[in-house]
Amino acid sequence: MRLLIIEDEPGIAGFLKEGLEEEYFAVDTASDGKSGLDLAMTNEYDLLIIDWMLPGLSGIEVCRQVRKSGNAVPVILLTARDTLEDVVFGLDNGANDYIKKPFEFEELLARIRVQLRSRSDGEDSLKAGELTLNPVTHQAFCDRNEIVLTPKEFSLLEYLMRNKGKVCTRSRIIEHVWDIHFDSDTSVIDVYITFLRKKLEAAGCRGLIQTIRGVGYIIREQDTQ
Ligand code: CA
Repeated sequence: MRLLIIEDEPGIAGFLKEGLEEEYFAVDTASDGKSGLDLAMTNEYDLLIIDWMLPGLSGIEVCRQVRKSGNAVPVILLTARDTLEDVVFGLDNGANDYIKKPFEFEELLARIRVQLRSRSDGEDSLKAGELTLNPVTHQAFCDRNEIVLTPKEFSLLEYLMRNKGKVCTRSRIIEHVWDIHFDSDTSVIDVYITFLRKKLEAAGCRGLIQTIRGVGYIIREQDTQ
């Protein structure tokens, strides 16, 4: 999953980026409202974390413009303001949630999960056939066999599973699994898919990731009964 953090305080932005990357997210950052809005309009993010008080364009204004463009990406506002009026104003302008500074990283992470979960089917664990993936613990199991995955393999599999039954094109996979510094050679996806398939097969999950030639990949739920 790919996140964008728009935050002008370098300490907070750096701390969040590092922490979220450790949680296997691909993370881009912007330090002012204008460049943040540009990134949000150009790339496909799974969630935006926006500071309310930003130089140039405020976080609320960024949020409003993102919504105005028809983009329904979940938005969590970071704010030092927490009067009822402020909160209502933030939510009225398109934020899905807010968190008051200073906050604990674990709380932000929990709120991010709530937002991502409500977009899938309300479950923390993702399932396809005998394969189960837990984005909280970063564990993958085929039936009861644990599959040890690298962070990138896990992120790629998570993206495919969150889009189970839909074709994931190479460009969308790159958009959602890699960050902005990636040089966009999509052949890296094939390499990771090969690794993933080997590990899944070794654990007993065969044929789960299917190739759509010239387009991308899909996980189709197979009836194993
Ligand atoms: Ca600020």
